Amino acid sequence: MTKVNLGIIGGGQLGSLLAMAAKKLNIKTTIFSDDEEAPAKNYCDYFIFGNYQNDEQIYNFIEKVDVVTFEFENIPYDTLKKINLKKKVYPNPEINKIVQNRFSEKNFINKLNIKTTDYKFIKSELDIKNNKNLLPGLLKTCTLGYDGKGQFKLNSVSDLINFKIDYKKEFILEKLIDLKKEISVVLTRFNKNSYETYEPIENVHKEQILRSSKIPAEVSNDLSLSSKKCAIQIAEELNYVGTLCVEFFIDKKDNLYVNEIAPRVHNSGHLTINSHNISQFENHIRAVCELEKLNTKKNFNAQMINLIGDDILKYRNKKISENEFFFDYKKTKVKPKRKMGHLTKIFKI
Ligand code: ADP
Ligand code: MG
Repeated sequence: MTKVNLGIIGGGQLGSLLAMAAKKLNIKTTIFSDDEEAPAKNYCDYFIFGNYQNDEQIYNFIEKVDVVTFEFENIPYDTLKKINLKKKVYPNPEINKIVQNRFSEKNFINKLNIKTTDYKFIKSELDIKNNKNLLPGLLKTCTLGYDGKGQFKLNSVSDLINFKIDYKKEFILEKLIDLKKEISVVLTRFNKNSYETYEPIENVHKEQILRSSKIPAEVSNDLSLSSKKCAIQIAEELNYVGTLCVEFFIDKKDNLYVNEIAPRVHNSGHLTINSHNISQFENHIRAVCELEKLNTKKNFNAQMINLIGDDILKYRNKKISENEFFFDYKKTKVKPKRKMGHLTKIFKI
């Protein structure tokens, strides 16, 4: 087989972990990033620094690669569409169009008869006042939010005075769910009805940022099965190729809601590097490069802890136990609320 050169757009920790998985499979990687100091620079074979909207730089990138994927979903849709005319982009850019916007993402999920939180499109303060039934709620920008960025918690309309909200942007107002827990399902779709699905992962968030993930998730068999069924239904409907993550809320009455879809490898799936024979990253590479699909099996239970901001400093010099795996994303600057690395502990099944 000729050597594949995989193009990856985005050079953060997900890009790094994808490049590491590709290396194992003897696949070369070319990373295109708008950050000159992108951490993935340390792991890829070729690195191109450029702007996601600069045609010349984009064309230079696609000339060098055979197939393209991405580590984050917010690359301009027009850019992905242009690339897809020359080299295959997996997953398909039409999927980004749906999930880049929280409103169209939730409409899509509801059309499949899968429950989400109640939500309304918001263009003005009056829209919020007219939807008091959604309070307490979260006002979220429709686009470009991550790790809780662009979210405002509203217990009542009077809380609006605490924030300066720019109504030139589009928002949704989402009813707050009385959370019992959060889980995610990570799967890799290779082809029609051809999947490797990981078991549900239980996630703990603090201040809207993922802090830790573990398997097995402590949920009933019913919830486990229905979350996997929802994730597969979503992937099938999207004609998805690659690794996908669906985040779920479970409320105090054990109702299951889809929170959001990540059309990419996901932070909660990092533990699969050490818990499974094949990680979410390797499966993604296998799917998008059309390699063989192998039977994915769990070897260990696991817990992953995100190292955020200063947390990383104490781990850099710490002795790591035999059942622990430390990942340093080698970001040049430590910043509060920034994901700097993670630690995975494995346990006998
Ligand atoms: P992001 O795109 O930043 O990941 P999310 O919509 O997933 O945004 O929100 C991040 C976290 O905030 C969720 O994982 C959850 O802990 C909390 N959260 C978000 N929306 C709700 C909601 N409607 N009800 C309860 N908690 C929520
Ligand atoms: Mg989320």
